[in-house]
Amino acid sequence: MPFELPKLPYEYDALVPVISKQTLEFHHDKHHAAYVNNLNNLTKGTEFEEMEIIDIILKAKGGIFNNAAQVWNHTFYFDQFGKNKIEKLRGELLIAINSSFGSFDEFKEKFSNAAKTLFGSGWTWLVKKPNGSLDIVQSTNAENPLTEGLIPILTCDVWEHAYYLDYQNKRPDYISGFWTIIDWEVISLRY
Ligand code: MN
Repeated sequence: MPFELPKLPYEYDALVPVISKQTLEFHHDKHHAAYVNNLNNLTKGTEFEEMEIIDIILKAKGGIFNNAAQVWNHTFYFDQFGKNKIEKLRGELLIAINSSFGSFDEFKEKFSNAAKTLFGSGWTWLVKKPNGSLDIVQSTNAENPLTEGLIPILTCDVWEHAYYLDYQNKRPDYISGFWTIIDWEVISLRY
């Protein structure tokens, strides 16, 4: 099979109490795995079978696009968590955040509001624009900012499956906790 489910870069209980072991088990082992399986089934015997996932995202439509984008989005989401706290936020990214949003706190508030107000299922993204400045965008369902020429730096999955077992309808509580598990070393390197 050409596409494989990446392993989580930490233990299933590493993000407790913000994201429970049970949520990570369902989110990674069931949801993320299903997108990988669907992608393998849908691309078998097609021009997309041997392509890089990013190229599929840029070229495909419909079910192949949805599953390829969800594979990429989830790998990107799971890879950004860990134990490095806010003081690890590096110079260049911090400068870009300050220049694009005024301050880190203003960035955090704007990103949180975008994640809270996204209607239905989707993703909130910090992206780098072609001119180097930063912006916050919302995407619905599997949509990914790469298709609009934007480079993803950070993302929050606001599909209910990302938080419902732990927070039920309280999406804002999940978003508050989200800030405390981000590995800023990873985010700085992406920028
Ligand atoms: Mn998800």
